[in-house]
Amino acid sequence: MTKTPLFNKVAFIGIGLIGSSLARVLRRDGLAAEVVCSARSDGTRDKAMELGIVDAAYADAREAVAGADLVVLATPIGAYGAVAEQIGPHLAPGCIVTDVGSVKLAVVRDVDPHLPAGVHFVPGHPIAGTEHSGPEAGFPELFRDRWCILTPLPGTDPAAVDKIVALWTAAGSKVDIMDAAHHDKVLAITSHLPHLIAYTIVGTADDLGEHLKQEVIKYSASGFRDFTRIAASDPVMWRDVFLNNREAVLEVVQRFTEDLTALQRAIRWGEGDTLEALFTRTRGIRRSVIDMQQAYGSGIARPDVPKTGEVDE
Ligand code: NAP
Repeated sequence: MTKTPLFNKVAFIGIGLIGSSLARVLRRDGLAAEVVCSARSDGTRDKAMELGIVDAAYADAREAVAGADLVVLATPIGAYGAVAEQIGPHLAPGCIVTDVGSVKLAVVRDVDPHLPAGVHFVPGHPIAGTEHSGPEAGFPELFRDRWCILTPLPGTDPAAVDKIVALWTAAGSKVDIMDAAHHDKVLAITSHLPHLIAYTIVGTADDLGEHLKQEVIKYSASGFRDFTRIAASDPVMWRDVFLNNREAVLEVVQRFTEDLTALQRAIRWGEGDTLEALFTRTRGIRRSVIDMQQAYGSGIARPDVPKTGEVDE
């Protein structure tokens, strides 16, 4: 179905899993008259062109943003500051800049100072993803029935926020608006800590002796397999998430460590009631997640995502 274009020219800075999925939505629904991108490597730019998801691909982000009324930052967040500094002076007056980064306070810190007056910044984070990367990994249904959190700064033009809400709504997402610090705390527990645990478990298994390691892989269906999928997520992206959400992550890791120690103690002293009470409580939480239709990707297949697992970021 073709809709009235929301934007004239949209420029993606970075066109990997998330950028290319959103570009596909724009293409599918005719939401932009022109879609362009910039990426560092020839391979990424060639692939984006070959897939037909952009009209032009530039090595220089400044060329990509020229005349754009929407710029979407979709690189790993560690690159945002340098990108914003580079493109800032070349943004058209009235342009909206948004992003898809998994952390929000650091993004505001790194990007906002480089944006000229008259440019509207609406930070965003689609809570959807997979463990795959690159323009070929994207698909337009990625965001369907998923949350997208926007964290506009106080005083941001409401019309700019409305346009970004309309964009994500067109992508099939449910949109929530909150402040950046709150976002980072919520995501620290729901996404960043689970990733840290997965990286740790898979790393620990890898450190085991050769014989045991093979057994771990052989019997991985017993639980380990789901962790390997999460731990296969992009190393650069996740390095940047942890470096840029340090405070909130360290706080939840501290809480987690205390709770783990309490469980360790319950096991040591044979306190079955303690274990059973916790496991009963957590089973209830699983039910709430299913009731809120957020369980896909953790054992329940989404009909529109046939070949991959999902990792909500
Ligand atoms: P991706 O598939 O690895 O794509 C990253 C894109 O950025 C590629 O086009 C890459 O192309 C380009 N890029 C990388 N480093 C760059 C740099 N220094 N300067 C300019 N371009 C650069 O990553 P993604 O999964 O789409 O993630 C992008 C953003 O979405 C991240 O900020 C992440 O926090 C956020 N996010 C990810 C997920 C997820 O599940 N993956 C979910 C929600 C939000 P070149 O290498 O050719 O430059």
